[in-house]
Parts: sequence; structure tokens; C-alpha cells
Amino acid sequence: MKIAVVGCGYVGLVSGACFAGMGHRVICVDVDAKKIAMLKKGQLPIYEPGLEELVDEAVRKKNLSFTVDLKNACRNSELIFIAVGTPPKPDGDADLGFVENVARTIAKEIRSYKLIVEKSTVPVQTGHRIFETLKMHAKKGVRFDVASNPEFLREGTAVRDFMNPDRVILGAESKKAREILTDLYRPLKCPVLVTDIKSAEIIKHASNSFLAAKISFINAISNICDAAGADVEQVAIGMGLDRRIGRDFLNAGIGFGGFCFPKDLSAFIRISEKLGHDFELLKNVQKINEDQKKVFVRKVEHALWNISSKTLGVLGLSFKPNTDDMRYAPSLDIISDLESRGAKIRAYDPHAMAKAKTHLKNVEFCKDSYAVCRGSDCLLVLTEWDEFKELDLAKVKKLLRQPVVVDGRNIYDPKKMRALGFRYFSMGRP
Ligand code: NAD
Repeated sequence: MKIAVVGCGYVGLVSGACFAGMGHRVICVDVDAKKIAMLKKGQLPIYEPGLEELVDEAVRKKNLSFTVDLKNACRNSELIFIAVGTPPKPDGDADLGFVENVARTIAKEIRSYKLIVEKSTVPVQTGHRIFETLKMHAKKGVRFDVASNPEFLREGTAVRDFMNPDRVILGAESKKAREILTDLYRPLKCPVLVTDIKSAEIIKHASNSFLAAKISFINAISNICDAAGADVEQVAIGMGLDRRIGRDFLNAGIGFGGFCFPKDLSAFIRISEKLGHDFELLKNVQKINEDQKKVFVRKVEHALWNISSKTLGVLGLSFKPNTDDMRYAPSLDIISDLESRGAKIRAYDPHAMAKAKTHLKNVEFCKDSYAVCRGSDCLLVLTEWDEFKELDLAKVKKLLRQPVVVDGRNIYDPKKMRALGFRYFSMGRP
């Protein structure tokens, strides 16, 4: 198939590269000319394991190309995916300005049948808005369909997730749209659920909100474990053995971040409000998540007595491991809180430092984990990168000015840490 993917971010670039890898002819479009210039030179604007190889091969086979010219890309493709950003507005609503712009440009350019698919995460009823926009601006008599195909990939494992999804959701309401999309996804061996467009849109928001709720739930439990002297990890294992609950997403920590959960929760709360439902449950999920960062800062304060004028070493900045994405990373709020209390921060992240530098102006960035430890009064773990789990802890202890570790991701064994002579604090574990 000839496919255009509009938006070359984490979703658009991965989707485009994967479709191209499946043998389709894909053109990826972005308004960001710098991004497109990089991609044309074979450089990736994001870090995502496995993506570079996939892009290189697809480009070599001439199945993947990049452009800023949306008009031309539209004319030459039958299937057009919209994968642009849907960032939050100050009131929490999803900003659908980029989606509308793209829909309007597509409408003006199309001369033959096109299937326009929303892949971006959007509030329910956006598909209808896209349809109306196309109807208003397209030439009379030109046929088109609109469909919804929400994306569930996770940064850090995006290529693997795209090629091995738990399910594919297709909100498609015409026979032709259903046929094109089921053909497209046939090579992926997974359940395909075909629904109406609105249900597909809600499936995405409901799934992300449910997962965020699971994280906030276990974080609330971890605070109870802390107060009672119980172990949240044992609790999570015990809960997770119940197949109705499952062990995934029951890891206590400093809360969720990234470009999906925080904004999708806000957008779902707002659209629910507009539809007449006050989604209090999700407001509490948000509140617990915000509070969890303060819980962590209080632990640092408890560990150090006074934070002011202490040097704190931070391991990990990205919102999760295996990505360079800093959007809504909990590290940003935590570091700013610690700095406002007079701490000096030195930090290291395996892949996110270039992006982190634009947000964290007063932080001293170090070349590796051991450089972070040297002379720090305390070590803080904010992202659970594998390389931090494999550190030589005896060396870490020697380099620190005092052997204090506050582990916001529970990556070390409390008993081992104490046996090594650390004062060790983690989330919800004695
Ligand atoms: P992103 O910010 O990384 O990428 C969006 C891209 O769209 C940017 O490169 C931007 O320049 C481009 N863009 C904006 N307006 C454009 C226009 N008019 N024409 C062409 N390009 C334009 O965002 P992302 O993380 O890839 O997310 C995209 C969507 O997918 C969002 O709705 C997000 O919620 C959703 N989503 C993201 C993830 C994730 O893990 N990042 C997972 C599932 C769904």
C-alpha cells in the first residue's frame, strides 16, 4: 500500500518504519524541517532501541522516505495516518490544533479516494470533527473515509510493541475502511477488534487511564507499607498472583510521567466533564501521582536531615528507561523542588542528557554514574535504567561523601544495601 504518516515523532516514525518494514511504500511527513533534514541524512531525532536499523533498511529498499511536503504526500498515498502531537492545554483539554491543520490540508489536496486514520491519541468525537473538516474543505464528489486506529506502543520498546501488539483496535465504519485496515494489520499475529470510531477513541483513553490508576494505586499502597513497616513488593506479588489483577504496572515508585499518561488523564477528565460526568476517580489518580514526588522529596529530607547546601547525585532523568524522552518526567519536578530547598544537583542519564539540558539549567551533568557519586552527599535513583542495577556498589560507597541512597525506583535489595553499609531508603519497603 502507499501510506503517508503525518508527524515523525515517537509514534509516527516508529509506525512509518514498521509499515515500511512490512513491505509498504511509506512517506513520513513533518512540519519540522530540521527533523526531516536529519532523517534524510540517516540520523534519528529520537532514541528508540531497534529503530535506526529498521529505518536504515527501509530507506535502502526505497520503502521509506521523508518530506515536509504534506500536499504531495497526500496526493501520492491512499492511506494517510495522522500521528501529530495532541499536547495538553493549560486547562487539561487536548490541543487538537495540529490535528485540525493536517485534516484541513489533506481535505484541500485530495482528488481521489483516501482513508484518513487518526493514530494520535484524541478525545472521543474527534473522528467526527475530522470528518466534518474534510467534508467542508474537500472538493465536491471526492470520496474519503475517516477511521480511528489508536496506538499502544510504549517508548523504550516501541518497535517491538508495534510489531507484537496485544491487540489492534480499528474504529472503522465503512466496508472499504475495514478492509484496508484489516489487510494492513493482517501480518501481525494478534487479536484485531473492529469497533465504531467513538468506541475506538474511548478504548485508548480508558486503557491509559486504567494503567495510570494501577500505578497510583500501588503508590498509595506503598505509602501505607512505609507507615506500617510492610513490604510493597511482597504485596504486589501477592496481589498480582490473582489473574484478575496481574503483576504488571504494580511497581511502586516516584509516579508516572511521559507524554501519554499525564496528558491523556487530563484530556479524559475534561472530555468526561464536557459529556456530563465528573470523573473523580481519575482526579484522585492524578493527585496521588503529584503527591508521590513530594513523598520522595520528604524521604530525601529525612535521609539527609537538611537538604540545603548538600550535593545530591541523581541517576536517571528520562521518565522511564530506554528512552531519551524528558516530557513530564518526574525528575523535572523533583529536581526543581530539591534545588528550591538549596541542594546542588549533579546528574547522569544514559540517553536523556541532551534533552534534559534544555530543562535543567543549574544541574551539573556528569559523564557516568561513578562521576555522579564522587563527592555527593547522597545518591538518588530516579529512572530504573539497567546499567544502574549493575553498578559496583562498593565503588559507589567509596565515592560518595556519605553512604546514603534514596531509591525512587526500588532497583536495589534493601538487605544487600544495608549489608554493604549504606543508609538505604526506598519506596514502600522496610
Ligand atoms: P511527538 O511530539 O514526538 O511527535 C509529533 C510530531 O508531529 C512532531 O514531530 C511535530 O513536529 C509533528 N507535527 C505537528 N504538527 C504537524 C503538522 N501540521 N504536519 C506534520 N507534522 C506535524 O509526539 P508522539 O509522542 O509521537 O505522539 C503523537 C501522538 O501519539 C500523540 O497524540 C500521543 O498522545 C500519541 N501516542 C504517543 C505514544 C508515545 O509513547 N509517545 C504512544 C501512543 C500514542
